[in-house]
Amino acid sequence: MKHYAPAGTPVSLRDIVAGFFARPGDATTYIAKSLQHATPRQSVWLVSSGRAAMTLILRAMRDEVQNSGRDEVIVPAYTCYSVPSAVVRAGLRVRVCDVNPRTLSMDTSALEKCDFRRVLAVVSSNLYGIPNDLARMESICRRRGTYFLDDAAQALGATLGGRPVGGFGDAGLYSFDRGKIISTIQGGAVLCSDDRLSSRIHEGVRGLPRTSLSELFLIGAKMLGYSIFLRPGLYGAIRQLPFLGLGRTEFETHYPIARLSGFQAGIAARIIPHLDSLNDCRRQRAAEYTEAMHDLPGVDLIPVQPEATAVFGRFPFRLQDAELRSQVLDRLNRAGIGASGSYPNSLVDVPEVRSTLPGDDLDCQGAREVAKSVVTLPTHAYCPPYIALKVRKLLKACLP
Ligand SMILES: *Cc1c(COP(=O)(O)O)cnc(C)c1O
Repeated sequence: MKHYAPAGTPVSLRDIVAGFFARPGDATTYIAKSLQHATPRQSVWLVSSGRAAMTLILRAMRDEVQNSGRDEVIVPAYTCYSVPSAVVRAGLRVRVCDVNPRTLSMDTSALEKCDFRRVLAVVSSNLYGIPNDLARMESICRRRGTYFLDDAAQALGATLGGRPVGGFGDAGLYSFDRGKIISTIQGGAVLCSDDRLSSRIHEGVRGLPRTSLSELFLIGAKMLGYSIFLRPGLYGAIRQLPFLGLGRTEFETHYPIARLSGFQAGIAARIIPHLDSLNDCRRQRAAEYTEAMHDLPGVDLIPVQPEATAVFGRFPFRLQDAELRSQVLDRLNRAGIGASGSYPNSLVDVPEVRSTLPGDDLDCQGAREVAKSVVTLPTHAYCPPYIALKVRKLLKACLP
């Protein structure tokens, strides 16, 4: 039976072969130029993951203000677990700020109330490619004298007020992991527009190791598997294999921090020219889901700010009835639609994070609500237009 993976980007065998034969320098320059063009940042570096990108940025920020006593990073209480992992890996302390469960963006009035005395930086999330309330977050950070890191791991191609997401604040990042907007299995980009931070990041990247040959071989094999098994006719056969760990995110601070390999840069350089059409397709699927679900009782869609363009790496909505939600997740997956409950917990309820948080940060009801209610649907290029109507039918069958 066909099964539509929760997220992904089609990669052809040709792209992989081309990546193998690409000139790393040319590919890297091309990607940097494209990202620079999309984001008004002076400098771009390609690294081994989004987490690695975040670690490098935070280390640069830490070193820039050394001995100021600023060692805390405020992250949204509902985001990818890699975010607090990167904060810890950079030798800094995690703080959380609640999110608005309606918009999934950091709750800016809660942010205003935070104690900023030791805060080095605030991080956005832009989950599922929907721009956060970035303009307000940016202005709060500026007023409070802290850095703002625009985490666009899931939002390559999204804009707010005509400005690219990933381009707000002092530095930004993109991820090229499996479920992101473009994929090279692993990978990420650092973008920075601040001269002093840029020169520190530059130093940091210069000291990084290259990807080892054995790791490259593994990535090549995974790339091949990804290219084949993302296809709906085959994904169902592998999605539950436990050693693939599909859909899992863990708090893990032992990841490699290296430069992106030339092979992966070569593949990314093949995908980037199609970024707009890949994202147009995702937006089209999202518009169809919105149309098919807006009148269903108990289904809360996530509003996009009027001046924003989202990219919808996945299409999120909320079902506040817990029993209904688990029934819907089960039913959609049995029907071959890769619906996901996203990250299972608020960061406040991730033990490794919780144990280090100051007491004031522990009450994040908005983030807990999101964790219990969010459902995401696939939007990638292998999803047919009629998928929205199929989802509507299945949802209606579950609704009371
Ligand atoms: C995936 C993700 C990251 C980390 O990217 P990796 O490439 O997986 O390390 C960071 N932030 C957010 C919001 C993400 O979704």
